Amino acid sequence: METPLPHVVIIGGGISGLSTALAFQEACQQVGRSIDCTVIDSQQQWGGKILTHHVQGLIIEGGPDSFLSIKPWARDLCEQLGLSHQLMNTNEEHNRTFCFTRGKLREIPQGLVSFIPTRVSSLFFSGLISWGGIFRMGADWFIPPLRQPDYDESLASFFCRRVGQEAFDRLIEPLVAGIYAGDARELSLKATFPRFRELEQKYGGLIKGVLAQRSKPKSSPSGSKSSMFVTLRGGLGTLIDALIQRVESNGADLRLGQQVSDLQMTNTTSNGYNVVLQNGEMLKADRVVLATPAYVSSKLMKPHHEFLSNLLGQIPYASTATVSLAYRAEDVPKSVQGFGFVIPRKEGKSLIAATWTSLKWPNRTQPNQTLVRCYVGGAGREAVLDYDDGALVNYVRGELSAIVGMTQAPIYTKVFRWERSMPQYTCGHLDRLQQIRECEQDFNGLYLTGAAYEGIGIPDCIREGTRIGKELAESFG
Ligand SMILES: Cc1cc2nc3c(=O)[nH]c(=O)nc-3n(C[C@H](O)[C@H](O)[C@H](O)COP(=O)(O)OP(=O)(O)OC[C@H]3O[C@@H](n4cnc5c(N)ncnc54)[C@H](O)[C@@H]3O)c2cc1C
Repeated sequence: METPLPHVVIIGGGISGLSTALAFQEACQQVGRSIDCTVIDSQQQWGGKILTHHVQGLIIEGGPDSFLSIKPWARDLCEQLGLSHQLMNTNEEHNRTFCFTRGKLREIPQGLVSFIPTRVSSLFFSGLISWGGIFRMGADWFIPPLRQPDYDESLASFFCRRVGQEAFDRLIEPLVAGIYAGDARELSLKATFPRFRELEQKYGGLIKGVLAQRSKPKSSPSGSKSSMFVTLRGGLGTLIDALIQRVESNGADLRLGQQVSDLQMTNTTSNGYNVVLQNGEMLKADRVVLATPAYVSSKLMKPHHEFLSNLLGQIPYASTATVSLAYRAEDVPKSVQGFGFVIPRKEGKSLIAATWTSLKWPNRTQPNQTLVRCYVGGAGREAVLDYDDGALVNYVRGELSAIVGMTQAPIYTKVFRWERSMPQYTCGHLDRLQQIRECEQDFNGLYLTGAAYEGIGIPDCIREGTRIGKELAESFG
C-alpha cells in the first residue's frame, strides 16, 4: 500500500491563508517535495474581506479598495501572479482629501494625509486648525521626548502630548479612524505607527524628525512611480481569483462553504491533527495553519491551550459597513473634487469617511456616473450597524445631503456589512503578540497568521502569510 503524502490544512481563505498556501506550495516545488495542501473557508467565496462586486458596469469594492504601494509585498505578489500590468495608480489630478469639521469641508494639506506634511504653509490657510491650535502644534519643537521609550502609549496620548488636542481631534484622529476603524484613545502607538515614536526618540520631536527625513534623498526600492495607494484595474478580487487559480493548479484541495468546527490533537508525530468540519467530515493533517480571525482561532484552541485561547480572545474587533452609492454625474455637486473626506469622532457622527471612488479610480463606473463609498461604524460607533440596509442607505444619504448638499436619489446602492472585521491593536498588543508567539511554540506543526497579529493591511497580511508558508515548507526538513 502507498504511504499517503504529508498533509497541510490551512483554515481560512482570506488573503492571509491564500498567500500562505501559495508560498508553501512554491517552496515545496523548489525542493521537489510533494505535500498535500487543503485550504478551507466557511464562506461561499474566497478572499475573506477582499470582495469585488461587478454590477451594471460598476466595480464596487465591498471591503478594501487599494493597498499601500510603499510596502512591497502586495505588489510583489501581483508580479508573481502576472498581474503587474493591471496595477493602477490613483488619479493624481484629484488627489485632495477633505475633513468635515465645524460645519464645513476643509482641505487637508498635501502630505498630511500620510501624516508627513510636505507643504506646512497650506495648514495655515486651510482653516482646519485654529491659529491657537497651529501655535500648539509648533510647541512640538520644544517638548522633550518621553523618557521611557518602551512605554506603550496610546495614539491619542502621544499626539495630544506632542502636537496638542486640537490637531489630534481634527487631523490625526479622523485619519487613524479611517485606517483602523478604531478609537485612538485605545490604539497602541508602538503597534500601529511605531515610526512616530522612532522620530520622537531619534530626533527629539515630530517636526525635527520630519525635517530631518525630508532632507534625506528619497529612494524608491523599485524605482517605480506608484501613487501611495494602488489597486487592480478589475478590482482587488482579481488578486484573489489569480491566487485561487494558481494554488489550485499547483494541486491544492480547495473547499468553500465548509466551516471548521473543531480542531483535535492526537499525540502522534505524524497526522497529529484532526480538522473537523461542521458537516462531520474529519481531515487528518500533519500541520495546521489558523488563518482565521483571532476570536475564531481562540475558540478552536480553547480545549488545547486555555492561556493561548484567552490571549487570542483578548484581541478586540470593531465592526463596520461600507455603503456604495452610484449617481448620475450631473446629480453630484462639484464641491468634492477629490478623493473624499474624513469626519472626526468629535463631530458625533457614525459616518467615518466618504470616498469619491470614481474620481480616485476613473474606471469604476460607466461614463457620466459617479460612485461614492461611505464607511460607517467602527469602535464606539457601532450602533448604526443595527439599521437594516435601507435605513443605512438613508442614514448616509442624509449625511451626504447635509455635508455636500447631495440630495438626488442614487441609481444603485449596495451595502456590505463587516461584523467584527477590524482587529484593534490596543495598548498591550505587542506584549500579547509575543506571548501568543511563545505559546505557538508549545505545538508541533501549528501556525497562526492573519490580520490580527503583525499588521492589518493587505501587504502585511501577505508578508506574514508568505513567511509562514515558507516556514511550513521548511518544517518538513
Ligand atoms: C471595510 C474594510 C476596508 C478595508 N480597507 C483596506 C484597504 O483599503 N487596504 C488594506 O490594505 N486593508 C484594508 N482592510 C483590511 C484588510 O482587508 C484585512 O485586514 C485583510 O483582508 C484580512 O485578511 P485575512 O486573510 O487575515 O482575514 P480575512 O479576510 O478575515 O479571512 C479569514 C477567513 O477565515 C474564514 N473563516 C473564519 N472562520 C472559519 C472557520 N471556522 N472555518 C473556515 N473558515 C473560517 C473567513 O470566512 C475568512 O474568509 C479593510 C478591511 C475592511 C473590513
